[in-house]
Amino acid sequence: KAKDSGRNSYQLYTAEMNVVAMDRLLTQNYLRSALQQDEFELFYQLQFDSISGQVVGIEALLRWNHPELGYVSPAYFIPMAEEIGIIVDIDRWVLRQACKQRKLWQRLGLEDVRVSVNISALHFRHDLIKSIKLALKETGLDPRLLTLEVTEGCLIENIEQASKTLTQANELGIKNSIDDFGTGFSALSYLTQLPFDTLKIDAGFVRKLPFDQQECQIVATIIAMAQGLNLGIVAEGVETREQVDFLTKKGCSVMQGYLYCKPANAESISAQLFGLYGQSSANVAGVRSNV
Ligand code: C2E
Ligand code: MG
Ligand code: MG
Ligand code: MG
Repeated sequence: KAKDSGRNSYQLYTAEMNVVAMDRLLTQNYLRSALQQDEFELFYQLQFDSISGQVVGIEALLRWNHPELGYVSPAYFIPMAEEIGIIVDIDRWVLRQACKQRKLWQRLGLEDVRVSVNISALHFRHDLIKSIKLALKETGLDPRLLTLEVTEGCLIENIEQASKTLTQANELGIKNSIDDFGTGFSALSYLTQLPFDTLKIDAGFVRKLPFDQQECQIVATIIAMAQGLNLGIVAEGVETREQVDFLTKKGCSVMQGYLYCKPANAESISAQLFGLYGQSSANVAGVRSNV
């Protein structure tokens, strides 16, 4: 009897593993055709200054909606896209789409606020500047409205190459931001060597504020360091008023998080940017059909 149930649970286990493996293969196959099938959409999340209440930045965040799988998280499909070698194509699509949308918002009167685009490590190392120039040319976007978000993973392999790429971006008028700061394993010295403009405090540190003494100390130290290095600071994953108060008091006033704005499609973000709430939705739809 015991043997039977043991064997059954073993079978169940392998069956589940097979399902997981099948799912992965299936998802990979679906992912390969997602670009052609037009299944990607860019969401945007507004960044606010906690003191002035103004919108000071917009991050573009990729969404994949498959007819059968439904919504798939980028945390799951981006690493997969890297594995199957299509991440650079996806990144280029994102870059172009974000530039196109930002150009449209400029036509509608939004000045000065930059759109941030996440750059994968592979794209960063393979002709990123060429992709950027092409996207700018195709969309007519002023490079002064673009920010790149790179993670520490982009930097470790070849620091000279990284420095060159970031410098070239700066020379075009683009700003460079270091994403998920503190989660990688790189030496702090790269921060002073590389031309970064902004540092994003990872949501993992923000989450426990202001009740965890250690996290408070880490965040205060990151902010002090960024200020010392003359870097702008953005806090990610801000969900509570207490977090805002702590961060603002320590000197970080740019907030990105659900408390201020949830990532949403261009239509919804347009409504938030231009206060189109309550007006004819044709206005908003009109915004979208031009994209
Ligand atoms: P990230 O660049 O650090 O983006 C911030 C993530 O935090 C986003 O997750 C966003 O939706 C989420 N977030 C924002 N505010 C809050 C909050 O208050 N609470 C919580 N719990 N989460 C919040 P998302 O959109 O799922 O993206 C995950 C990651 O996938 C991104 O992290 C980025 O590394 C990557 N990614 C997203 N879009 C792209 C893209 O277009 N290209 C590339 N290469 N990577 C992307
Ligand atoms: Mg980011
Ligand atoms: Mg981040
Ligand atoms: Mg992240």
